[in-house]
Amino acid sequence: MSFLRRFIERPPLLFRILFPEAVFRFGTKEKCIYLTFDDGPVPEVTPRVLDILDRYGVKATFFMVGDNVRRHPGLLEEVLRRGHAIGNHTMHHLQGSRVKARRYLSDVREADRYIGSHLFRPPHGWLRWKQAAMLKREFTLVMYDLVTRDYSRHLTADDVVRNVMHYSRPGSIVVFHDSLKSEPRLMDALPRSIEWLKGEGYEFRRLSRPDERL
Ligand SMILES: [Zn+2]
Repeated sequence: MSFLRRFIERPPLLFRILFPEAVFRFGTKEKCIYLTFDDGPVPEVTPRVLDILDRYGVKATFFMVGDNVRRHPGLLEEVLRRGHAIGNHTMHHLQGSRVKARRYLSDVREADRYIGSHLFRPPHGWLRWKQAAMLKREFTLVMYDLVTRDYSRHLTADDVVRNVMHYSRPGSIVVFHDSLKSEPRLMDALPRSIEWLKGEGYEFRRLSRPDERL
């Protein structure tokens, strides 16, 4: 069980080799870190996350579910207005292993109409090879170096902070979730994680925004 947890919390080398075109971590010795938030935006959680980030002067990247943006377009605008980056996380939070490549791609393209970002992160961190091959022609695939597992009701906020402390390293891309599922742990774990990272001398960076695309 603990092996499985570690496997999820930090994707192993084999997994990284399977998706050579995806970004898991930025190769740097500088103490910088990339906070990312998946599965939003939702009115109950996202604005509170934005307030926490503002309080610490942190810029981050939000991988949004297209259907949430369709329902709450003002939240996407607010995330951009506050200086963060956004990415595509499919229209319906599709699990790549459960659908064919063509359907997957059309779901991502539907989300693109609402989100309009060149960044894509697959839900559950998984894609079929063919899906990855098709997507990488249009998007930069962004995976992660560390999953906080803030969504797990088996964890406490302390556990989530411990995961951040245990796995963070220079260039890490860290996953949190601005979702109702994560909310009970996130609101406490996020400020504490930021404070710990700042104390360790980390600088926070976000991925590039659509308007910065070269
Ligand atoms: Zn997700």
